[in-house]
Amino acid sequence: EVLSNQIAAGEVVERPASVVKELMENSIDAGSTRISIEIEDGGLTRIVIADNGEGMTKEDSLLAFERHATSKIKDEKDLFRIRTLGFRGEALPSIASVSHVTVKTSNGEGAGNETSLKGGILKAQQEIAKQQGTTIEVANLFFNTPARLKYMRTVQTELSNVTDVVYRLALANPQIAVELKHNQKPIFRTNGNGETRQILASLYGLQIAKNMLHIEAESLDFHVEGFLSMPEYTRASRNYLSVYVNGRYVKHYGVNKAVLEGYHTLLPIGRFPIVAIFITMDPQLVDVNVHPSKQEVRFSKEDELYQLISGAVKKAFQKQSL
Ligand code: ADP
Ligand code: MG
Repeated sequence: EVLSNQIAAGEVVERPASVVKELMENSIDAGSTRISIEIEDGGLTRIVIADNGEGMTKEDSLLAFERHATSKIKDEKDLFRIRTLGFRGEALPSIASVSHVTVKTSNGEGAGNETSLKGGILKAQQEIAKQQGTTIEVANLFFNTPARLKYMRTVQTELSNVTDVVYRLALANPQIAVELKHNQKPIFRTNGNGETRQILASLYGLQIAKNMLHIEAESLDFHVEGFLSMPEYTRASRNYLSVYVNGRYVKHYGVNKAVLEGYHTLLPIGRFPIVAIFITMDPQLVDVNVHPSKQEVRFSKEDELYQLISGAVKKAFQKQSL
C-alpha cells in the first residue's frame, strides 16, 4: 500500500509546487472562501495550507489517505461529468507517502481532529478544538526518496514554481481570498472580491491589466470569457497564455492556436500575448481524465470551440479599432 502510493507519488508529486497545487485544489473543491499558503525554503522544508472549507469528519480524514478514496465521485457515470478539480483520490495518499503530514480539520460540528502520518503510516490521531476548515502541513518532502530529493532545484526555483501554481489558481478563483507567504514574508494576496482584472494587475502590472481587452462569447455548448493583452504588450514566450476549462488550468495547443489566430496579423513575429481565457461547458463535453496531473483535456466539438474563441478575439480587435 505504501509502496504503490510512492509509485503514484512519482507521477503526481514532482516537486513542492505539485503539493501546493493538489492541496489548493482540495481547498477549492471544499468550497473555501479563504486559502492561505505558507511555505518554507521553497516548500522543501514545510508547506502549510489552511482553508475555511467544509472540513472533514474524523472518519473522512482517515479515509482521505486511502488510495482512490475520493468523496467527489460516487459511480462511474460521475467520471464523465467531473465538476471538481480532484477526482482521482490519489493526491493525499501520494503526498503522505513521501513526507510527514499533519491534518487538522473540523466540519463545524463537535470537536475537530488532528491526524499525523510519516511516510504514509498513521502515527497519531486526536481530538482538537478547531474552527471549521482544514489545515494541512507537509514537512520534509521526499525525506524517504533520496533520488527524488536530489533532483530538487534551488529554493528560488522551487519558490517560483509554487508562485506560478498559486497565481494560476488564484486567477481562476477571484472570489476566493488567497494569500501566499514564503519564510514568513508575504509574496502575494488577493482579496476575494471577484475582480479578475485586479488579480491580473498584481500579476502583470496595472498598465497591462488596464489595457487588456475583455471578451465574452457563447455558443450552444460553450461559454468563453477572457482577458487579452494588446499587441503592444507581448512577451517572447507562449507561457503567458493561460487556459482554464471549468476552472481547471490546462495546457491546450488547439485553444492557444485559436486565440493567436484571433490576433490575425496584429502580433509582431515571435511575440505572444498575455492571455487568460476561461472556458465553461457541460463537463460531459470534456475529458479531464487523460493524465494523472489532470492538466491535459480533450474536447468533443473542438471545432465549435475554436471558432468561438478566434471569432471573439477578432471581433474584440475590430471593435477596438473603430
Ligand atoms: P481527490 O481530490 O481526487 O478526491 P485527494 O487525495 O486530493 O483526492 O483528497 C482525498 C479526499 O480528502 C477528498 O475527496 C476530500 O473528501 C478530502 N479532502 C482533502 N482535502 C480536503 C480539504 N481541504 N477540505 C475538505 N476535504 C478535503
Ligand atoms: Mg485532490
